[in-house]
Amino acid sequence: MRLGTENGRWAEIQRQMSTDGKWSGELEAQRKGGDTYPASVSISSVHDAAGKLTHYCFVFSDISQRRQAEEQIYRLAYFDPLTNLPNRAQLYSLLEQAILEAHRKQDHGAVLFLDLNRFKHINDSFGHSPADTLLAEVGRRLSHALRKEDVVSRLGGDEFVIALFDINRREDAAAVARKALAALAEPFFVENHEILLSASVGISIFPDDGRDAETLIRNADVAMYRAKQLGNSGYLYYSREMNLRSLERLKMEGGLRHALERNEFILHFQPQLDLASNRIIGTEALVRWQIPGQGMISPAQFIPIAEETGLIIPIGEWVIEATCRQLRAWLDAGLEPVKVAVNLSPRQFSQNLPRTVMGYLHKYGIPADLLEVEITESMLMHNADSVVAMMQEFAAAGIVMSLDDFGTGYSSLSYLKRFPIDTLKIDQSFVRGIPHDANDSAIATAIISMAKALKLRVIAEGVETESQLDFLRAAGCDEIQGYWFSRPIPADPYAQLLRETNGT
Ligand code: C2E
Ligand code: MG
Ligand code: MG
Repeated sequence: MRLGTENGRWAEIQRQMSTDGKWSGELEAQRKGGDTYPASVSISSVHDAAGKLTHYCFVFSDISQRRQAEEQIYRLAYFDPLTNLPNRAQLYSLLEQAILEAHRKQDHGAVLFLDLNRFKHINDSFGHSPADTLLAEVGRRLSHALRKEDVVSRLGGDEFVIALFDINRREDAAAVARKALAALAEPFFVENHEILLSASVGISIFPDDGRDAETLIRNADVAMYRAKQLGNSGYLYYSREMNLRSLERLKMEGGLRHALERNEFILHFQPQLDLASNRIIGTEALVRWQIPGQGMISPAQFIPIAEETGLIIPIGEWVIEATCRQLRAWLDAGLEPVKVAVNLSPRQFSQNLPRTVMGYLHKYGIPADLLEVEITESMLMHNADSVVAMMQEFAAAGIVMSLDDFGTGYSSLSYLKRFPIDTLKIDQSFVRGIPHDANDSAIATAIISMAKALKLRVIAEGVETESQLDFLRAAGCDEIQGYWFSRPIPADPYAQLLRETNGT
């Protein structure tokens, strides 16, 4: 017998032996053949008649079986033997722990209560054992469909609970519910029979619908029951208001998927006025979604959904192409060439973006200095090195870059040095308070003088009144954009305004 594998503990054992003359505990022991096993060991010192230490006496026993039994008891206590998922007890303890954490970080969480539809029927017609196999497969599919951080557990019967601890927004829980339902929509095979399953899901949100595991699970259960009564195997939130929000979102998401092929996007243009010359020196292209019979939807409403679903990539590309196409039409019509800015969303960022942009400039024969791209601070923070590379490509091609919504992001100052930016756009939230709000006025003034020091141009967004304009002019702002001069307008009225203002 050897006890050589836990060297680290010998010092501790020896210390105790020298003071107490004995030690007992569990150690990893090794057989002569080299394999190891857990051993319960007690060691005592043996002294001769003169009190001199002569021997140690080891008593040990192999406790492998006891360990296995303990592990089994642990598994039985905290895991569901059928699916190997955490059981009710484990779910409660995980949830309580996560709730403490969420309280601290002021996070959201969600509990999804999933119940299979007509499972009793399957149980009755196939018998227990096939039904068990089916449940195990359901557990496997749910775990696979979700992320590692999400907890999938089985409460018993055909009831599963999914706990989401790190959702950004309450609406995200619906996306997870759809994913879980989609995972069960594929046919199951049991004993050569194809079985189609469906389920109903109820969602409760932390902290809105409950602040402890018990309440969250109960409310998710209530919502599941309502979903089941509606009978169309879907999901429902516990709160009515969340259901309305999620329905609206779903409708919008569906429509957005078809908006491109149905040609429902148009561009509006908002002129930018140079304060020194009183001429229009640029314009911002702002996308609009026009659904026949429903009017215009603002990008503030649909861009976040497009970003979340990835639809921003084709939509963003459409904006770039439509801008180039419009520029071509204006050039052909003899309109004074004035640069147009397009907004780029952080999700659009990719190594290929400069190539895509250059491709459209080339296709429509547009000089690169007529295009400007607006990026946000969050894009800069993304993955700085690759963003720097992308911006250098833009700069090398002669494309102007401006930093949109400046002042609303983080660590702006250190970024300004690293990136080849030409213009800062003072966010409208600061312009709004000018000149009455002392803080807003001070921030705007500071941004302007900082931009001057860094040799950047500066434009104020959202200028609505004459007094805002006067203040900004006095503070040294170069350019303004806002309702005071013009709202975003369609291409033709914009061209008209450009001719009148610039006298060309
Ligand atoms: P942004 O780029 O900061 O655009 C300025 C927004 O402020 C526009 O809203 C514009 O209509 C509005 N605005 C301009 N002047 C004034 C004013 O004097 N007062 C007030 N209250 N508002 C003013 P819009 O067109 O609704 O666009 C909202 C945001 O949607 C944009 O903010 C931009 O972030 C995003 N967006 C718009 N078009 C696109 C696009 O083609 N691609 C991407 N990725 N985002 C876009
Ligand atoms: Mg913008
Ligand atoms: Mg802005």
